[in-house]
Amino acid sequence: MPDRMLQFVSLPQQPPDKRPVAERRADFAEIYRRFDPSEAAHQASRCSQCGVPFCAVHCPLGNDIPDWLKLTAEGRLEEAYGLSAATNNFPEICGRICPQDRLCEGNCVIEKGYESVTIGAVERFLTDTAFEQGWVKPRRPARERGLSVGVVGAGPAGLTAAEELRARGYAVTIYDRHDRAGGLLIYGIPNFKLEKEIVQRRVALLEEEGVRFRLNVEVGRDLTLAELRRRHAAVLLATGVYKPRDLAAPGSGLPGIVPALDYLIAANRVGLGDAVCDFDSGLLDARGKRVVVIGGGDTAMDCVRTAVRQGARSVSCLYRRDRANMPGSAREVANAEEEGVAFVWLSAPKAFLGAERVRAVQGMRMRLGLPDASGRQSVGPADAPAFRLPAELVIKALGFDPEDLPHRLAEQALTVTRWGTLKIHHRSFMTSLPGVFAAGDIVRGASLVVWAIRDGRDAAAGIHAFLEAETAAVAVAAE
Ligand code: FAD
Ligand code: SF4
Ligand code: SF4
Repeated sequence: MPDRMLQFVSLPQQPPDKRPVAERRADFAEIYRRFDPSEAAHQASRCSQCGVPFCAVHCPLGNDIPDWLKLTAEGRLEEAYGLSAATNNFPEICGRICPQDRLCEGNCVIEKGYESVTIGAVERFLTDTAFEQGWVKPRRPARERGLSVGVVGAGPAGLTAAEELRARGYAVTIYDRHDRAGGLLIYGIPNFKLEKEIVQRRVALLEEEGVRFRLNVEVGRDLTLAELRRRHAAVLLATGVYKPRDLAAPGSGLPGIVPALDYLIAANRVGLGDAVCDFDSGLLDARGKRVVVIGGGDTAMDCVRTAVRQGARSVSCLYRRDRANMPGSAREVANAEEEGVAFVWLSAPKAFLGAERVRAVQGMRMRLGLPDASGRQSVGPADAPAFRLPAELVIKALGFDPEDLPHRLAEQALTVTRWGTLKIHHRSFMTSLPGVFAAGDIVRGASLVVWAIRDGRDAAAGIHAFLEAETAAVAVAAE
């Protein structure tokens, strides 16, 4: 055990080992090995215990990072886990998939010159160990309040809010249109970043805590929002954003050009043992094909790396900006490159070529211009010849917008922003409908799991405050 902190001067950063490329290209298992207790203690001891910990300032959950690092370095793992779980409902998930280079680790003060503390890997180690040691216990309420809350959407925002509300004594029912709970944790993010058992372990814990799941129920189709409001004292909408952005290029309707989420959902379902017709027919299977993925975010990175594992003949990623301006995590880009993905920077599709189905992408070169109002460099076509990339499968990963929720839920009184996300009161998380709250991507637009957790916690607090006030008002009226 290291005898003190601040070891960063003599102890180099040592992230968890990655499995060899040839091995990980051949399966869908997670690519990072786990720290053993000695590695976790040594890496944690590199922390300089900052008075103003910028790591925590830049963690959306405000995790008490220096304190749980110190406890880890001292081998007091159960206490360290307890502290980390106090601010984060799913630390083992964040430890795996947060873009730490943009959040906690990217702001670690020793990053300049010494490379950051491996915060995410320690966080993951602590909770995985806690599960193995039986330290993770269901959070059961001290008393039942006799009020129920309905949550629409079993993604990280809905699951977090449900757990927080259940712990406060509310009866909670989660409704989801899918057959499994987890939202994008199950059907979006691939196994090699987050194995499904990790998510299912959490869902099982929520069930033990008394949260009820109603799966295969689509609100707006099988059940109206009005009916939900009659059933429950409050309702939380945590439905995420799913409308894929599209391309207007000629030929974009050709067979063989598919939306990213269709492709990833099929791959995840196959991994879970489901029969998927469009995969079996070859439509959503990259095996033996030349694959071109269009886009530069996390979704695009997940698609290229899934295609590699499915045995694609080649995988290219077309992105209109350059590496430095890519929205996806730099760590994931590096992983994709190691696994054999070719990046075609500063390029965009001009047309899709083929008769019966897509045969090639005609690309055009792009160039970066001056920063726009958002501070991001603008991008436009460059004066350069077009090029051709043969492709039997093209995956469009251009991001997501919210669906028209007021229309889908037949509630025109739900107010939306000009981006189509739900408008909420910034403190209470209540929408324009009394007693109806919202959290996660449907409020922020496509974002991150850690922000969905943050919103789920805040929305639960907002719902609790609202129901307490309602109960108090009823009591006063009855006097
Ligand atoms: P979701 O996870 O989308 O869950 C919403 C749930 O609501 C779904 O289960 C859906 O079925 C359900 N639902 C929707 N409408 C209805 C309805 N009418 N009735 C009933 N149920 C309904 N973030 C990271 O931090 N790290 C990553 O590495 C990362 N990778 C990603 C990779 C991909 C491919 C994608 C698409 C996203 C990724 N993200 C990542 C983003 C992250 O997954 C989301 O920000 C997060 O899941 C949002 O959580 P949420 O609970 O708001 O919504
Ligand atoms: Fe870092 Fe994410 Fe963990 Fe916060 S939750 S400490 S940002 S890995
Ligand atoms: Fe430790 Fe880095 Fe956080 Fe400072 S910023 S407390 S060194 S992890």
